[in-house]
Amino acid sequence: MKSLGSIRRDFAPWNDPKAKPYIQFDGVTKRFGDFTAVNNLSLTIFEREFFALLGASGCGKSTLLRMLAGFEEPTAGRILLDGQDLRGIPPYRRPVNMMFQSYALFPHMTVENNIAFGLKQEGMPKPDIEKRVADMLKLVKLEQFAKRKPHQLSGGQRQRVALARSVAKRPKVLLLDEPLGALDKKLREETQFELMDLQQELGLTFVVVTHDQEEAMTMADRIAIMDKGEVMQVATPAEVYEAPTSRFVAHFVGNVNMFEGKVAERTDKATRITGATGAQIVVENGAAATGADIIFAIRPEKIRVSSKKPADAVNALEGEVYDIAYLGDMTVYHVRLDDGQIVRASALNAARVTEDPLTWNDRAWVSFRPDAGVVLAR
Ligand code: ATP
Repeated sequence: MKSLGSIRRDFAPWNDPKAKPYIQFDGVTKRFGDFTAVNNLSLTIFEREFFALLGASGCGKSTLLRMLAGFEEPTAGRILLDGQDLRGIPPYRRPVNMMFQSYALFPHMTVENNIAFGLKQEGMPKPDIEKRVADMLKLVKLEQFAKRKPHQLSGGQRQRVALARSVAKRPKVLLLDEPLGALDKKLREETQFELMDLQQELGLTFVVVTHDQEEAMTMADRIAIMDKGEVMQVATPAEVYEAPTSRFVAHFVGNVNMFEGKVAERTDKATRITGATGAQIVVENGAAATGADIIFAIRPEKIRVSSKKPADAVNALEGEVYDIAYLGDMTVYHVRLDDGQIVRASALNAARVTEDPLTWNDRAWVSFRPDAGVVLAR
C-alpha cells in the first residue's frame, strides 16, 4: 500500500463521509472595527481529534479559539458544537475549557487547591473533589507535589498543573493556546508526547493553537494552516508536508526548493516541465495543463547529491557545490545549478563513513525521482 509519509493512521473520520462533525465553523467572520481577523472561514473538527491551528503571529488563530470558547462572538457565520449553535451561550455553559498561554495558576494556592478550584466553584461535593483531584494528580504524574505552591515547581510541572486544572471539570473539548510556549526545547518535546498520551487517555477533543510547525506536526491528527484570517489547507501532517496545495503552505511547513517552469507536455503518467533556462524535469504528480506556468516544489531530503550523474536518474541537473553544512545527523548541501539556481539537498548520515564525499566547489549532480515533488499553480 502506498501512502504519504511513513505512518498509517487508523483514526481518520475526515475521510468517512458518514462521520458526523463535532465542531463546525460555518462561514465565520470576525471583525474588530474595520480590521478583519477571521475571514469567512469554514472548518470541521471531529470528536476525539487532536486538531492544530498553525500560522504566523496575527493570522487569527487565537481569535478562532476565543470564539469557540465564547470569549468573542463571530461578526458573521455560525459555530456549532455537536450540532448545537453556540451563539449566545456564555463560556461557562459551553462544554469547552481553555488553557491559556500563561497558565495563570493561583500563586498562593497549593497544587491540589489549584486543581480543585473550578470544582469547588461548581459546588461539587467534597469527597468527589478529593477523588477527582487525586485522579488528576495521577494523570499528570504530580502525586508527590500536591502540597507544593506553583513557585516551588519547574516550568514543566507548572504546565502539568495547569493541564490537570483545565481537564478536571471533564470538558468535552480542551482548547490550548500555545500550551508549551513557556518551556525550553527539550521539555517541550517531552511534553508534546505527554499531551498526546493524555488526550488519548481522556478521549477528549483537543484544539491547539501554535506557531511552531514541528509541534503541530508532532501532535496533531490534522493541521489547519492559516494566513490572514483564512485557512490555506487542512490536512494530516504528512499531507501538509508531502502534498501542499499552495506555495504558501509548502513554504510555511519545512524547507522546500521551488523551480519555476512551464508544463511542456502532459501524458497520463507524467508531466514534463521546462524550467526558465531550459532544464527539463519529469514529474509524476501534477494536475496542471500543457502550457501552464507552474512551480515545482521539492523537499531537500528528496534530492540526492553525487559527484557523478546517477545512471538510472530520470531527473538530474548539474552544478557546483556552493555550501555545505555538517549537522551531525545529516549534511545539508547547497548546489548552484548551471542556470544559477541554488538547490538545497539534505542527506542523512546513516553511516559514519561516506563513500562519495564532496567538498566546496566540486562539480556535482542533483537528482530526484519523478514522484519526489509536487506541481503547484503559480
Ligand atoms: P499570536 O500567535 O500572536 O497570538 P494569532 O494568530 O493568535 O497571533 P489573533 O490573536 O487571533 O492572532 O489576532 C488576529 C488579529 O486580530 C491580530 O492582527 C490582532 O491584532 C487582531 N485582534 C485580536 N483581538 C483584537 C481586539 N480585541 N481588538 C482589535 N484587534 C484585535
